Amino acid sequence: MPSSIQLLPSHLADQIAAGEVVERPASVVKELLENALDSGATQIEIWIEEGGESLIEVIDNGAGIAKEELILAVSRHATSKIACVEDLSAITTLGFRGEALASISSVSRFQLTSRQASSNHAWLLRGEGEGRWQAPEPVAHPVGTRVTVADLFFNTPARKKFLKTPRAEFAQIDLLVKRVMLSRPEVSIKLMHNQKPVRQVSVSSNDAQLHKRMQSLMGAPFMAESLQLSYEAQDIALSGWAGLPTFNRSQADMQYLFVNGRIVRDKLLTFAVKQAYADVLYHGRHPAYCLFLDIPPELLDVNVHPAKYEVRFANGSWVYDFLRRSVREAVTQPLGQQPLSSGGTVAANPAV
Ligand code: ADP
Ligand code: MG
Repeated sequence: MPSSIQLLPSHLADQIAAGEVVERPASVVKELLENALDSGATQIEIWIEEGGESLIEVIDNGAGIAKEELILAVSRHATSKIACVEDLSAITTLGFRGEALASISSVSRFQLTSRQASSNHAWLLRGEGEGRWQAPEPVAHPVGTRVTVADLFFNTPARKKFLKTPRAEFAQIDLLVKRVMLSRPEVSIKLMHNQKPVRQVSVSSNDAQLHKRMQSLMGAPFMAESLQLSYEAQDIALSGWAGLPTFNRSQADMQYLFVNGRIVRDKLLTFAVKQAYADVLYHGRHPAYCLFLDIPPELLDVNVHPAKYEVRFANGSWVYDFLRRSVREAVTQPLGQQPLSSGGTVAANPAV
């Protein structure tokens, strides 16, 4: 037992903090995708090798980072997204904690390449290990940012031990990327694994393109047996696709729900949708849906856990109620009134 209390070196503190944000390759991909989306990118490429254990690279065409800010970007508690405590109560970006890049770079061989539109070349920031960085060097690269994460957990063997097979880790990445693809129709996204294309969606700017994109992600049977819905009440809005009762599953494996464009895990929200289907599905069968809930950011607390999967609502019971009633109204309409062909829209007044 050491007898005196000592401050941890900052690199070690970063590695410990990384445990909360970077659990596995998919969590790295999530953070890098969030950064790319926050930067306003309309095109994102994700390159994965060996389930992300040897390489994760995310390339975007967003706003980029200034040379002078590259070191800040990889420093803990450094963010361009919030500046004061008031900002914390109305977050409109996916990130805000300023710790993802610091965490990821402390547990991998990390490179950050970025170019802003005002610059005629990019700057590359390379680590030297132990949290030390070389001076940025000029390199050729289009406008945007490329984050390269190699040999994840090479210096934290305790973490590395818990990784599953590359195949299992990639499955998690694929699911995460699919969710992001569902949530951001305005962004074209490509996912590669071991140099082979796995998923690719292009920008959808009209209904037909959106339908095609949804179909490639949710499958044609779902699109044929679901209805597109759109509800609004006061400040809250629900949109998306709800599977008809005839399209049901033996597992809850096609349930996608986003809150303000975020991927969330919320048992109560999931339960609210389950209840909406309670009268129209046999016991033990699960509905399929892809739903988007939008509420004013000041009514949503996303600062619950570092991984940002959990949220809290200022007016929880009202949100759950709205969700349950809206979905129920859509999926329990008399059969003849349901728009059975895909693309049918149920637009309604407040369902509450
Ligand atoms: P956060 O996203 O919470 O701000 P991060 O550690 O993920 O924290 O990123 C730190 C900062 O680096 C961001 O606030 C942003 O200014 C910048 N940044 C990171 N990734 C990108 C990117 N892909 N494009 C532009 N800026 C980025
Ligand atoms: Mg971030």
